[in-house]
Amino acid sequence: MKEVTYEGLTFEPYILKSDIASRVEELGKEIVRDCAGKMPLFVCVLNGAFPFASDLFRAVETIDAEIAFIRLKSYEGTSTSGNVKEVLGLTDSIEGRTVIVVEDIVDTGNTIYSLVEDLKKKNPAEIKIATLLFKPDALVRPVTPDYVGFNIPTKFIIGYGLDLNGKARNLNDIYILKEQ
Ligand code: IMP
Ligand code: MG
Repeated sequence: MKEVTYEGLTFEPYILKSDIASRVEELGKEIVRDCAGKMPLFVCVLNGAFPFASDLFRAVETIDAEIAFIRLKSYEGTSTSGNVKEVLGLTDSIEGRTVIVVEDIVDTGNTIYSLVEDLKKKNPAEIKIATLLFKPDALVRPVTPDYVGFNIPTKFIIGYGLDLNGKARNLNDIYILKEQ
């Protein structure tokens, strides 16, 4: 497998398509075990989580489940750590529901933390976090993802939904930034 280059940066293969697929199947089995009979509502955080959510949702075909899509709007002029985000597009009521937030990656945890705090105000029965990738060493928020595909070091990665300035989301494998 080849290295890829975007915007002058070189990335090398890191997690192969086949390994992603088998891990997503395993996560699906965990969710089936935990959420059977609860009619979980998957909430896919666009844009990055769409390939993962698509695969994960179909990995739970043996139980009843629903899916909704949201985007997060970051307010400008705030520092990264104080990032305030507004949820766009969640029209479904989540009151009394088991909600599974589906993210591509949890890095500092700021994004998922503010999202979960917002969702809690809508009185769900429970909120679970499913993330394909988790950078535990970068975490600055009290967030514990329930379903984690892969723990990774604090390095920049792309592919399978993850982007560099909008590019590389369509790579089937995940690539990691090469030490330059
Ligand atoms: P957090 O709020 O720091 O946890 O991360 C929020 C967002 O940063 C993620 O949802 C991604 O969109 C983006 N992000 C974090 N790490 C990476 C990476 O390694 N590659 C691409 N995007 C990333
Ligand atoms: Mg994201």
